[in-house]
Amino acid sequence: MEKLLMRKFRQLILMLFIFCFIIGSVAMSASAMSASTEVPAKVMKQAPGFYRGQLGDFEVTVLSDGTAPRHLDQILSDPRIVYDELTADHEVEPVELSINAYLINTGAHLVLVDTGAGELFGSSNGLLLANIVAAGYRADQVDTILLTHIHADHSGGLSIAGKRQFPNATVYVDGQDVAYWLSKKEELKAPISARKTFEQSQTTVNPYVEAKRLVEIKPGLELVPGFIARSAPGHTPGHTAYLVESRGHKLFLWGDTIHSAKVQFSHPQVTVQYDVKPDEAAQTREQLLDFAAKNGVLVGSDHISFPGLGHVRKVGNGYRWIPIPYTAHVTELDPKP
Ligand SMILES: [Zn+2]
Repeated sequence: MEKLLMRKFRQLILMLFIFCFIIGSVAMSASAMSASTEVPAKVMKQAPGFYRGQLGDFEVTVLSDGTAPRHLDQILSDPRIVYDELTADHEVEPVELSINAYLINTGAHLVLVDTGAGELFGSSNGLLLANIVAAGYRADQVDTILLTHIHADHSGGLSIAGKRQFPNATVYVDGQDVAYWLSKKEELKAPISARKTFEQSQTTVNPYVEAKRLVEIKPGLELVPGFIARSAPGHTPGHTAYLVESRGHKLFLWGDTIHSAKVQFSHPQVTVQYDVKPDEAAQTREQLLDFAAKNGVLVGSDHISFPGLGHVRKVGNGYRWIPIPYTAHVTELDPKP
């Protein structure tokens, strides 16, 4: 009798143990399931912005400094055309204008064409230095900086808080831009609305003047092997385009020839309020568009959607922008020299 009771008792203990084990397992797997389905916080950041290709023997890395929102109907000279073009393309104001720069490793020089806005244009840009690192380089490795012109979103990245960000680089810029933007006399003559641009230019460029790291260039000169400056005045007095060439492969970096691809290819006569001489800027735009279309040259454009590389095609009385196709490989950017 006693033995029978003991056996029943053991069976009861065993059943209790099994029951607890099953309940415990179910609870554990339920908590594991709830942990694995927990939704993480949104990241809300874009990927680093660089795009790379070859140009003959050169390596070209387009760097994004970010974007700047702009109401085109307020900054371009013909709001009606802006409205028509944006409406037709389902785009709304403000439009995000890219700020692109170009880092070119020639094998003998590391050349940066334009430097983004630095700390001058708000939080949606100023990413150039971070993107140089993301692209595998450091700012102190840049030995040559070519500016298309002095304007906050092209020369602003030269200095942050008055300190040179490219300590080993010499900056090349057209002498007419230096004579204009770095002159206190010109600043006092300029409209009040332009005064801020003068101040920003002086704050970011002058540290290179003081360090004897600024060289004034003249058009037509070969600055470093493979880089030829071409005068493109109007947007600023010394606005410059650079023709980059290696083994017959060409890239034409034309700075601020186009602010809005949606509007100014089909309507090159439309100017932007940042033009120092709007009529001259429009004339230059026509010449450069014609040059690019006739020669089928690959263009790098500072404010066209990143990476801002493409070709120009003549269509009717205007032009059309044809962006290069994206590739995940590092391939020749100008395959038909
Ligand atoms: Zn500009």
